[in-house]
Amino acid sequence: MGYNVAIDGPAGAGKSTIAKMVAKEKGYIYVDTGAMYRGLAIHFLKKGIDADDRVAIADACRDAEVTIGYEDGVQQVYLNGENVTYMLRAEEVGNMASKSSAIPAVREKLLELQRSLAAEKDVIMDGRDIGTNILPNADLKIYLTASVETRAKRRYDELREKGEACDLEAIAHDIKERDERDMTREIAPLKQADDAILVDSSDMTIPEVVAEICSHCA
Ligand code: C5P
Repeated sequence: MGYNVAIDGPAGAGKSTIAKMVAKEKGYIYVDTGAMYRGLAIHFLKKGIDADDRVAIADACRDAEVTIGYEDGVQQVYLNGENVTYMLRAEEVGNMASKSSAIPAVREKLLELQRSLAAEKDVIMDGRDIGTNILPNADLKIYLTASVETRAKRRYDELREKGEACDLEAIAHDIKERDERDMTREIAPLKQADDAILVDSSDMTIPEVVAEICSHCA
């Protein structure tokens, strides 16, 4: 068993940015589980399935294989052997991932992949149910959050920097919707594990958050 750090929290809390930096500092492998849900979401989109068609989504899991690999230390996601990493961040992929991740067949599909990675290596794994469900015996559990306003503003700045048109209100609305879906779904809802350390990054800089988390690592 490797040394396992679970980092859960709502969309836009900065989990991936922070986890990547902690991984670098501590020599862990960073595992982005959201990217796996996004990889499966691409499969459903390619098949033209409606995001609300739970039966078709569950059925389509049967002919999807998601695997991950690393190129220059950067996680790559393969869908049935094809590298789909470049497509993962598209808005429609995020929406499909957010909806389809509430379906048991989708979660089952990715459970073993996540557990086997943690069994083999020292990892920092980010997601929604890592500390509560995937790795209940993780060595360290972090629940990273920030206010809706802070998360919306961060996403807004990120999009503006890329030159993309965006609207702060709409982003905040979308974040609230995703929170609601992640926190209220029947299976593996997002919540802080009893033994997780709460880190609210609303008024913290990135280096401060990284230092705080590293201080709890072995
Ligand atoms: O973190 P990211 O935005 O890439 O995740 C995409 C979607 O996958 C989220 O909206 C969330 O609903 C889902 N997800 C999940 N469990 C995880 C990781 C992500 O349900 N461990």
